[in-house]
Amino acid sequence: MIEIRIAERLASHNVCALSVRADADVPEVHFAAHPHGGAETLWFRFAVQVVVGRAGSVRLVLEHIGNMLGASDPGAIWPVISAGEGGWRRLPPGRPRLMPDGRMSALWDLDLSRGEHRVEIAFCYPYGPSDLNGLLADVGESVTADEIGVTQSGRPLPRLSTDYGSPGGEIDGVYLIARQHSGETPGSWVLDGLLRAASAAPSGPAIWAIPFAHMDGVVQGDYGKDGYPYDLNRAWGAPPMRHETLVIQRDICLWTHRFRPRLALDLHAPGACETDGVYAFLPQDAEDGGEEYRWAEALREAIGPPYAAEQFIRKACYPSRWPTPCFTSHMKRVMGVPALTLETPYGVAKGRVLTVEDYREIGARVHRVLGSC
Ligand SMILES: [Zn+2]
Repeated sequence: MIEIRIAERLASHNVCALSVRADADVPEVHFAAHPHGGAETLWFRFAVQVVVGRAGSVRLVLEHIGNMLGASDPGAIWPVISAGEGGWRRLPPGRPRLMPDGRMSALWDLDLSRGEHRVEIAFCYPYGPSDLNGLLADVGESVTADEIGVTQSGRPLPRLSTDYGSPGGEIDGVYLIARQHSGETPGSWVLDGLLRAASAAPSGPAIWAIPFAHMDGVVQGDYGKDGYPYDLNRAWGAPPMRHETLVIQRDICLWTHRFRPRLALDLHAPGACETDGVYAFLPQDAEDGGEEYRWAEALREAIGPPYAAEQFIRKACYPSRWPTPCFTSHMKRVMGVPALTLETPYGVAKGRVLTVEDYREIGARVHRVLGSC
């Protein structure tokens, strides 16, 4: 006997089309990623309560994968699960289920022992405000969190700093931003590792970092890529199209007057099934041999094997739904600061299944570069 109930909502909760088919040979939990009003979908996170009369399997069935951003291959989707002690762990790659009309689902079988289990499932390792609090507790006074404003929904928007600088700016500064697309949690884990490294070796440049640019989406469980009313990473025009970008633009102005600006880095994750490693997007108008290329070469060298993609330096060539600039364009064109985007895959980099420690190691390797160039 297996009884499955939908559990309570979680932080960054996202699921839809959720149903339990207890009469199947193996009981199945069907679900899909919720677009939350946006054009694209990818992120999911939810919990089920499973009562098992005797040891048995429960099958997870992710529907509509062909509608998720970059998710055509079940075998390149590696979600995470938390079932009892031990926290989150990676599931194996999905198995395909081809439907008679040609659509594809992805399947995972969970073997559960007798008893009651609370099973949480997410597209990737979650990272939210409680994880940030854990980081801040671990690094002590070396990183300070300040509220620089609020989100469009009125939630506090924190900025982290390793130094406040001073008017006139006599020390080097780096400005980091993560989670403009709120479902892209690998960006947060990379930032987490980077700040841990900065705390352990405080001789590098001062760091200011926005850990959750789209804080509303982080809390609400939005994927956030091309979310409405306006993609946060396309809202960097003058005037800005979102309150978060207005707040962060003013913080960046403050930063440029208190430091010698060296670099701006925007931390993202790519499409769902990208597995060829970490890579950098340069602004469209970055010149060959220019500052962004020098930084990108240094990052490629530092991130290195086994994480860096063969084709590490790229320019985004996919069509945008929004005519307005992104963060890196704003930093380069308006603020005159070299800027690039770092894309860290969700599940696998060149055959290596990524753990939280891998993401943090990538962040530590990025930190080694910040004092160079
Ligand atoms: Zn993104």
